[in-house]
Amino acid sequence: MILDDSPQTKPGPPALNPYGDALFLDFDGCLVEIAPTPDAIKVPDDLPHVLQELAARLNGALAIVSGRSLHELETFLQGFDGPMVGSHGAEARGMTAPMAHQPVGLSDLQQEMADFASQSGLLYEHKSHGGAVHFRSDPTRQAQVEGFAHALAERYRDFTVQPAKMAVELRPTGFSKDGALVLLSELSAFEGRRPVYAGDDTTDEPALAWAEANGGFGIKIGAGESVARFRLPEPQQLRGWLSAALEGEAWDV
Ligand SMILES: [Mg+2]
Repeated sequence: MILDDSPQTKPGPPALNPYGDALFLDFDGCLVEIAPTPDAIKVPDDLPHVLQELAARLNGALAIVSGRSLHELETFLQGFDGPMVGSHGAEARGMTAPMAHQPVGLSDLQQEMADFASQSGLLYEHKSHGGAVHFRSDPTRQAQVEGFAHALAERYRDFTVQPAKMAVELRPTGFSKDGALVLLSELSAFEGRRPVYAGDDTTDEPALAWAEANGGFGIKIGAGESVARFRLPEPQQLRGWLSAALEGEAWDV
């Protein structure tokens, strides 16, 4: 467990520039608060509308980049029709999906994960391109779940262990959020714009680093070490920052 540094040690992000910025947003723990189970998240009623409006102001340069399946993202954010990347980059909407083939052994791997979770009294989360076992209900099981996941990845070579918040996930090898940003940045709406990425989890760090290294900046949501230069304490503050960007005078220029 990494010791959390104070949320006060990094400043909040500067205002968005509608004419020059491209915005990439993680979903869980970033746009919406983490819930006891993945299904129990609460999506604010106006969130899809805010994203849709902001995307229009950014001339289409706004994308969601998540470890969730694309189907779940589309369901939770109905009303937003911009680009979305799901399953850590293995599936996408609004761009050519980079997935060349289904990873070998997907359904067997998912069954083994579901069996393990059920025998351990933990929650199994089915994902379209993998699965996750959540130990939020019993954090003392972390080492056991991690051991199981690494043993599984030894047998299913098309999958990689992805640590997450109170969960361990198996995702297809070769896909990542920063890889997704490279592909998104080649779309005409994003090309030549300054990348701004917001995320909360260890899975977001390579994408935050990519934004920082490519002339833009990262916004870490919540406590914890990060390569991002800026920080906001909770998803609520990120939503406020997005809404403020919509209402900013800069838009009227
Ligand atoms: Mg997240």
